[in-house]
Amino acid sequence: MRILVTGGAGYVGSFAVRALSSAGHDVLVVDDLRQGHAASIPEIRLVEAEFGDRPRMEALLREHQAEAVMHFAGSTSVAESVRDPGLHYRNNTAGTIAMLEAMRDVGVRKLVFSSTAAVYGESAESPLSETARYAPTCAYGRSKLAIEWALADFAAAHGFSSCALRYFNAAGASEDGAFGEDHDPETHLIPIVFGAALGKRAHIEIYGDDYDTPDGTCVRDYVHVEDLAAAHVLAIEACDTPGQHRAFNVGSGTGSSVREVIETVGRIAARAVPTQSGARRPGDPATLVASAERLHTELGWVPKRDLEAIIASAWRWHQANPDGYGS
Ligand code: UDP
Repeated sequence: MRILVTGGAGYVGSFAVRALSSAGHDVLVVDDLRQGHAASIPEIRLVEAEFGDRPRMEALLREHQAEAVMHFAGSTSVAESVRDPGLHYRNNTAGTIAMLEAMRDVGVRKLVFSSTAAVYGESAESPLSETARYAPTCAYGRSKLAIEWALADFAAAHGFSSCALRYFNAAGASEDGAFGEDHDPETHLIPIVFGAALGKRAHIEIYGDDYDTPDGTCVRDYVHVEDLAAAHVLAIEACDTPGQHRAFNVGSGTGSSVREVIETVGRIAARAVPTQSGARRPGDPATLVASAERLHTELGWVPKRDLEAIIASAWRWHQANPDGYGS
């Protein structure tokens, strides 16, 4: 399939692009490179452009003769969305609507969209199924949920066939340690814990240890980025029914606390990890753990790697690339 991938130079996007390419798909990446790294997709065609620029997207869709779009680009930080909600609604929601209209006008109607477990927020269920109540706690989650609703409407009105993949916590690196996670600034737990283990940071601050969880720290579902990438390949190949929009959780089904992640990093890297207890981070729910039963039943997806494998692969990446893609 000829696939245009927005945000394909970002962390999850670059793993999906390599997986699509290995599966025989013809990929064009569109990325503004504000957060992405060209070095993460060395053998893939990359155009520097904004996905929300409708005329430009129409031209690129035509030029690539795209049959489908995979849409990763957008703002992803919960804390940033609390501080600057306009940025998230503009980038994530308004930008995506412009892109969907470009797709409609060119006649490209297959789409896989990067959504998030943040659409559930403080939903009471655990593990979360796709039918759990939506209770997003931040503008990031609400800006993504708005797009999911738009996708259902575009399916009904214009015959789009789409899947929203609700990511839990993407983590880990390629087996050989050549590709991994590199954000600036880094806000994600596992790379920050490695930063503390390697002495690049004085400590890791634990954002809240008084949650209603077994050890008081937040519980999340960490899913290996290679397993997440595999879900994207299955999802795009399953977008074959005009008028159908589906949402799938992508998580391992296992919850790990912030303290468990810190302990696992310390053990695998055989280093002390200095920690400090801090205040809760606004917008963080106590627990987010997936039921990925729907993705298993409908698309045959099974996660192959657990937290140990995630952290072992991330350790190889951090050792080999102490400065990320700038190494
Ligand atoms: N976290 C933390 N200290 C940090 C970064 C993250 O305690 O320096 C916690 C955060 O509160 C959350 C978990 O680690 O409970 C995972 O956070 P991350 O930002 O990696 O992903 P999110 O769950 O926000 O998507």
